[in-house]
Amino acid sequence: MKRILLGLVGLVALLAAVVLVRTLMFTPPAEDDVELVSNQPDRDKLARQLSEAIALPTISRQTPQPDDVETFEAFISWFEAAYPEVHAAMDRTLISDHTILLKWEGRDPDAKAVILTAHYDVVPVIPGTEDLWTQPPFDGAISDGYVWGRGALDDKAGVITLMEAATMLLAEGYTPPQTIYYSFGHDEEIGGGRGASAVVQYLKDQNVEVAWSLDEGSFILNGVVPGVSKNVALINVAEKGYVTLDLVATSQGGHSSMPTADSAVTLLAEAIVKLRNAPVPGGLDGLSGDAYDALARHMPFSQRMAFANKWLFGGLIEGMLSRIPAGNAMLRTTTAPTMLEASIKENVLPINAVATVNFRLHPRDTRESVADHVRRVVGDDIEVRMRPRGGEASPVASTTSAGYRAIAQAARETVADLVIAPGLTVAGTDSKHYAKIAEDAYRFHPFIVGPDDVPTIHGTNERISIDNLVLATDFHVQLLRAMDAPASE
Ligand SMILES: [Zn+2]
Repeated sequence: MKRILLGLVGLVALLAAVVLVRTLMFTPPAEDDVELVSNQPDRDKLARQLSEAIALPTISRQTPQPDDVETFEAFISWFEAAYPEVHAAMDRTLISDHTILLKWEGRDPDAKAVILTAHYDVVPVIPGTEDLWTQPPFDGAISDGYVWGRGALDDKAGVITLMEAATMLLAEGYTPPQTIYYSFGHDEEIGGGRGASAVVQYLKDQNVEVAWSLDEGSFILNGVVPGVSKNVALINVAEKGYVTLDLVATSQGGHSSMPTADSAVTLLAEAIVKLRNAPVPGGLDGLSGDAYDALARHMPFSQRMAFANKWLFGGLIEGMLSRIPAGNAMLRTTTAPTMLEASIKENVLPINAVATVNFRLHPRDTRESVADHVRRVVGDDIEVRMRPRGGEASPVASTTSAGYRAIAQAARETVADLVIAPGLTVAGTDSKHYAKIAEDAYRFHPFIVGPDDVPTIHGTNERISIDNLVLATDFHVQLLRAMDAPASE
């Protein structure tokens, strides 16, 4: 008996030692010291350019209005006047009339090209909420160190900082090693079907090969990743897909004074509860695992211990992450019932009851595999219909390519003490199109964003600090320089 007890104690001690050693070894990778670089962009000019861009309300509406065309044309004219050096040095093509494509010929015309992109359309402001804004949404006010208005973060600052960096490099007489395309979409907020999608077709028609692309879709997060106090640059290597399913329950219908036990509504309600209890399987494998592996090394001891010992704590971690919406969205395809429809009248039993459920696809799943999962879960009594809108998740881009390394190096040269990790964009961007031509599509804008900034995107009081405009311009200058001399692996 004593021997068994001793053996058990020994086993526990061994287990604790393994857990401890693995935790202590689970540290950030050693990085070469990187010197911060500032190219001294012109703060006032950056703020002024963005302010003027915001004051042209290039809104992508669900139903376009007659004046919209004039506003987009005014933006294109303004853009030409605002960046004369760029327009003198690069070829400009307008795609579908309003998407701006600039070609900066590289030193080696045979090298694969790079696409740097942002979009200049914006979402509307919900009518009646204008008064909630500290500064009016379409004035482009510059105040308290910020430029205010719709499109400040999403995504006119992307356009302005890319163009300011190009202007600065042109002034130095810089020519990029490979050809660069700047693509500024005009319809990202309604899917990019006429903008980015047509840019890709245009480049394919010209037989252009693209090594990598960089678009919006992630930021430098400050105080957003739980347990990580440093700034985190999430370089997103994939984007979720999208599918919507209608679940249809059917019953006989009739007068509501003599209902059957099961109506279409109760059958449908049961199906929805079944779906809630059987989420699409997910976990810490693949991209999700890589992301947390990079981040967790910077977390406090207890979290590091858990992530360093996924063989022991994996289930616990997945359970905890699944309960946080942002964590759950990283781990799996999410399930979101959004619309319900049944009888047309309160005293009429419905024949059909329909629930609309929107799924955002993790790269490991497909539209069809999710529909199959749902059919299995809800059973044969419920018909599952797939809506045509949406698309598969993007391919997962490499984290060892020259493009990824150049982006990471430029980020390190711009922000001190930075954690860099690959990530997953959970919403849609124009990169779903660019990924069709680029070998690797990345999503990252170098703006430092905190918890208070996130809800302003598509929300109220969208703004960006002038410090962020300076930082992003420095990043884009360094990115092009890094393409010349990429960091070694
Ligand atoms: Zn955007």
